[in-house]
Amino acid sequence: SYRKGGYHAVRIGDPFASGRYIAQRKLGWGQFSTVWLAYDTQTSKYVALKIQKSAQQFAQAALHEIEVLCAIADGDPSNSKCTVRLVDHFKHAGPNGQHPCMVLEVLGDSLLQLIRFNRYKGLELDKVREICKCVLIALDYLHRELGIIHTDLKPENILLFSTIDPAKDPIRSGLTPILERPEGGNLNGGSTMNIIEKKLKRRAKRAVANISGRRDSMGGAVVKPARCLDGIDMRCKVVDFGNACWADKRFAEEIQTRQYRAPEVILQSGYSFSVDMWSFACIVFELSTGDMMFAPKTGEGFSEDEDHLALMMELLGKMPRKIAVGGARSKDFFDRHGDLKRIRRLKILPLDRLLVTKYKFSDTDAREFREFVTPLLDFSPEKRPTAQQCLQHPWLNPRSSDGKSKVDAGMSKLKI
Ligand code: ADP
Ligand code: MG
Repeated sequence: SYRKGGYHAVRIGDPFASGRYIAQRKLGWGQFSTVWLAYDTQTSKYVALKIQKSAQQFAQAALHEIEVLCAIADGDPSNSKCTVRLVDHFKHAGPNGQHPCMVLEVLGDSLLQLIRFNRYKGLELDKVREICKCVLIALDYLHRELGIIHTDLKPENILLFSTIDPAKDPIRSGLTPILERPEGGNLNGGSTMNIIEKKLKRRAKRAVANISGRRDSMGGAVVKPARCLDGIDMRCKVVDFGNACWADKRFAEEIQTRQYRAPEVILQSGYSFSVDMWSFACIVFELSTGDMMFAPKTGEGFSEDEDHLALMMELLGKMPRKIAVGGARSKDFFDRHGDLKRIRRLKILPLDRLLVTKYKFSDTDAREFREFVTPLLDFSPEKRPTAQQCLQHPWLNPRSSDGKSKVDAGMSKLKI
């Protein structure tokens, strides 16, 4: 990918925007870009530098993403809507071409990494609730105030961030946004900033080791047990607006990453904001159990799409006939009675039963979870609750016996 039209190769210390930003280390990458931690010499702060591939179609997509990010920043001057903040953008000329670059606030690891570090066991429900609130604030803002559909909501595109000032508490501030990284995440040495960072990371690692008393076989990196996250105020932001669109200017038919894709997208019966709510429900399940809600596979005599629809119906009940036969692609999957053509026998297991039997939820937890999540998975897109309605749901504000909201009580202990 590091050729003409592809990624721009970056070395530690490389200057960008006439020397304003200095590359520090790689933070991540996606299909279209690499993302670097950079030092902003003008503000003396760290930023995340997203460097897009240079070929025409990628550059075009970046310009669109910048347009969306500008709208997001303009509508949220106090930066409180749980969406990543664009601080600057420019073009960088390299051997592989002209690369659009976005300068973003630095965030930490993704929810996917969080799930991995937790060894796919699922997070405590109170942690899931905190994450849900952030994601819903973002979705409510995007949908209701801006008219934007994200269209690619998934754990990789939600990043943690720390509200702890590193100057006051370097260990905890380092732990929250950037979890220990056994696989990769090479900290290349170099600048002073980098050395300071390394020291902080070493201290953070020692702190974790003290709590857990366990070390990983890979290079001594510490395996992060779930309880290291105890007492840390879990906040996150939605990122990756490369596929986002205004609801009145949709351009793609096939949207969303497979496992988070809504049924109306598979059936091609038109979509709107509620596709993000479907993905959100899939994420809530994944955070709570460690498993994807739907992981369809191609099988003998049926496609991945058909398996996906079957999995949905096994968990949520039969799709109403009108919806099943109402899409441009319905005929590929359903007969005129609204039954799948190639998968005839469904193994029905309702969500709350699954939670109790496979994931050992208590009956109450399973019921309350179902009450929050299943309306978001309504086969009729227009019946799904909006982000604003979800924010009011009792599941997000459980009362403890003294009548106080449990989550808020937990948060107030942590005034940072
Ligand atoms: P793409 O459009 O290529 O998928 P993303 O915006 O999803 O790019 O970024 C790719 C990866 O880079 C993310 O999954 C994440 O690991 C990392 N990343 C992106 N933005 C930030 C940020 N603001 N702070 C820290 N890491 C980031
Ligand atoms: Mg991405």
